[in-house]
Amino acid sequence: MENIIEFENVSFRYEADEEGKLLDLAVENINLGIEKGSFVAVLGHNGSGKSTLAKLTNAINVPESGRVLVNGLDSADEKNTDEIRRTVGMVFQNPDNQIVATIVEDDVAFGPENLGIEPQEIRRRVDEALKSVNMYDFRLSEPYKLSGGQKQRVAIAGVLAMQTQCIVLDEPTAMLDPSGRQEVISTIKRLNKELGITVVLVTHFMEEAVEADRVIVMDKGTVFADGTAREVFSQSEKLLAVGLDVPQATQLAKLLKAGGINISTDILNEKECIEALVSLLKE
Ligand code: ADP
Ligand code: MG
Repeated sequence: MENIIEFENVSFRYEADEEGKLLDLAVENINLGIEKGSFVAVLGHNGSGKSTLAKLTNAINVPESGRVLVNGLDSADEKNTDEIRRTVGMVFQNPDNQIVATIVEDDVAFGPENLGIEPQEIRRRVDEALKSVNMYDFRLSEPYKLSGGQKQRVAIAGVLAMQTQCIVLDEPTAMLDPSGRQEVISTIKRLNKELGITVVLVTHFMEEAVEADRVIVMDKGTVFADGTAREVFSQSEKLLAVGLDVPQATQLAKLLKAGGINISTDILNEKECIEALVSLLKE
């Protein structure tokens, strides 16, 4: 499969502080390809470089050394910035900072309006985007009256209305309650599976990462682990060493195993755990 985003030996550091002291690299020598149509989760404890990496995908950050290519376009070339931002859309943690208009549909229209799209086409895109995130019935609502999960879905619709091929979400559920989290995760899963949109989900919830095709773990600005959810979470000691947990169901299976029960420790979610227990009881 073709890569929509490629990182080639990418390092990045933030501007020196007021005293002019050179800061450490925030990410260092990253090599990654994000496959078109894939769903990738990025994990890592605070300060490991996840947000820096996310902002490198759409030219908010530009590498100090190395290259980021989006559909082959180098993010360091300013001529490519608009095209890159049309290709890769970002959704951030705080929904209140992303909603600019006082009516939901105006907010979703904001991006395409800035692109200079025809009003009729904007209308079509806004309706379609709101339907894709199940927020069409709220198109005339005032955003401040919505729940956190609904606001994040409006923010996602805003990105969809730009017809981006890839959505990068930086801890989009961190400020949401469990039902809001569920709404957002099932929405992005559906956009990935049904519309083929490439998804990069930065999260600190293991249960969310399990939903992805691929899990990348960041530590100290570098890629510490990279594989399928099953590959990454089967190495619980390694994850604990960088301050991460494994999903609850995986942890439970490990405890049961340690307690002498003959259960696979290759378990990722509640459903698999229940199936394994049921089949043990039937033996
Ligand atoms: P994460 O999203 O995983 O918490 P970040 O990418 O935000 O990590 O941070 C990576 C490193 O860069 C950390 O050491 C952090 O302190 C530093 N950093 C992040 N943003 C800035 C900034 N705006 N200015 C200076 N340093 C920053
Ligand atoms: Mg962050």
